Amino acid sequence: MSIPDRLYRFLFERADVRGQIVQLEAAYQEVIRRRAYSPVLRDLVGQAMAAAALLGSIIKFRGSLTLQVQGQGEQGLTLLVVQATSGGGLRALARWQGELPAEATLGQLCPDSYLAITIEPDEGERYQGIVALDGGSLAQALDNYFENSEQLATRVWLAADGERAAGMLIQRLPGEVRDEDAWPRAEALAATITAEELLQLSPPTIIHRLFHEEDIRLFDPSPLRFQCTCSRERVGAMLRSLGPEEVKGILQEQGQVEVHCDFCNQGYRFDAVDVEQLLRAADGPPEPPPTLH
Ligand SMILES: [Zn+2]
Repeated sequence: MSIPDRLYRFLFERADVRGQIVQLEAAYQEVIRRRAYSPVLRDLVGQAMAAAALLGSIIKFRGSLTLQVQGQGEQGLTLLVVQATSGGGLRALARWQGELPAEATLGQLCPDSYLAITIEPDEGERYQGIVALDGGSLAQALDNYFENSEQLATRVWLAADGERAAGMLIQRLPGEVRDEDAWPRAEALAATITAEELLQLSPPTIIHRLFHEEDIRLFDPSPLRFQCTCSRERVGAMLRSLGPEEVKGILQEQGQVEVHCDFCNQGYRFDAVDVEQLLRAADGPPEPPPTLH
């Protein structure tokens, strides 16, 4: 039986702890069917999608959150990118070279690499946090990220199995502590979750199983879906940024300029007329005349 892609938020009524559970199926399938991922990578992509959904939902403004790991070697996992938008859109992609081991953590696949978390509001400053993977799992890297940069005690659990991807996050809220034991208690209870439970049980059942002795407020879930943010306009802007010589060079060599979106496999073709228009648009509207103040 299939499950809807959604994220549940919950709150401990008598303690300063909040939580989230995300489960993905259709969005995850949309991503992994686009490439021949090995099982280890397929699971990793799913975990990263669940993580991006959890982190993305914490952002209070409109914009996007990107998780990115760049492998340092020529072989193995060379790139993992997942993006979540505040509207509930998710897209993901991994690139690799050669054979990957059947089992490995993200840190083992990308030794000496870092996890970069970038938050880009539609309006305002872009922010990036970076945390070392140190051979560990993505969930461990996220725990470290929150400890270092947000200074909010946070724990993350992630699971994926090629069918579904899921994640749970609990976070101690800033402010006055009403119940000293609440956080260690919540953490210990949450830590009893298994990957199978996270993937198979409904979020209300998980919350009941873990925290039935606590007073929990469960909010209505928000939907998530696979969504790529690529468009002909964005590809055009990217081509313009390459400069007219580069673009005309490609046009001369190949008769057209073809750009492929690695996230959704959509192709964008620009012929000589399109390129001409594109480069003319690059000149932009005339500068407004200077005004006196
Ligand atoms: Zn795309």
